[in-house]
Amino acid sequence: MSTPLNADLHCHSVNSDGTLTPTELAARAHANGVDLWALTDHDEVAGQAEALQAARAHGLRYLTGVEISVTFADVTVHIVGLGFDHTDPRMAEGLADTRDGRGPRAVEMGEQLAKAGIPGAYEGALKYVGNPRLIARPHFARFLVETGVCRDTAEVFRKYLVEGKPGYVPHRWARLGDAVKWITQGGGVAVIAHPARYKFTATEEYALFSEFKQHGGQGVEVVTGAHSPQEALRYADMAREFGLAASRGSDFHSPDESHVDLGLLPPLPDGLTPVWSLLQARIH
Ligand code: AMP
Ligand code: MN
Ligand code: MN
Ligand code: MN
Repeated sequence: MSTPLNADLHCHSVNSDGTLTPTELAARAHANGVDLWALTDHDEVAGQAEALQAARAHGLRYLTGVEISVTFADVTVHIVGLGFDHTDPRMAEGLADTRDGRGPRAVEMGEQLAKAGIPGAYEGALKYVGNPRLIARPHFARFLVETGVCRDTAEVFRKYLVEGKPGYVPHRWARLGDAVKWITQGGGVAVIAHPARYKFTATEEYALFSEFKQHGGQGVEVVTGAHSPQEALRYADMAREFGLAASRGSDFHSPDESHVDLGLLPPLPDGLTPVWSLLQARIH
């Protein structure tokens, strides 16, 4: 049997909430044996040109990438886009609209954390922001770790940044159909990111997969840093049931925070269509 392709099609740079530059990520992916790579920053394609250039320098095959924040049934769902034209103005416009509310949301998060006894969190988070258009919860988490409020970012999320906690500000993101359209009209494939992480009932999850298919979505992450082996098997079954291709990605953010490094993931379970087989013509 031949060695399976080491594809890592999900990670983040300083252009969103990661801590490494696209150039540093490409070097790390290469060092870890990645064959096919995609940088998938949240709601942002500003890192794509640098990622592509760095991938070329290391002889890494590359697919353009993005991770779009969507609100579906009042839950935040992430849709990964792969292999689309990152210079398409319709994608740029859609992402700009999606990013729009992040600034005011962050100010409100700062106000709520101040009320909970943690002053200066907005200004503190800003120190960690690499892209002024993209302030996200991990930037706050890094500040709360720096100031000793919590031991690590996982603890910050648990105590302050998830629903029901003082620093959580609900937000309405893009619509599912729009996110899928921005990706597919640019020649790309849309993928449901880390499906096991959403707090859906079985009925809601079925609705997500059905509507995603109807909108033209073609893939689901089966092997991701966010899935246990059991969850990977469960979503392998879902991929077969819904006729979706399977993706694989670490969701790497930072050497200090991520428990799964670039490329260091189990292979896809047998009998699935890898998402990259749909994207042969889009690989750089
Ligand atoms: P935002 O887009 O501002 O809502 O931030 C979402 C990001 O926060 C995700 O992409 C993850 O990087 C991070 N995140 C979300 N939930 C957690 C969690 N429970 N623990 C650690 N990081 C998390
Ligand atoms: Mn993130
Ligand atoms: Mn995500
Ligand atoms: Mn991600």
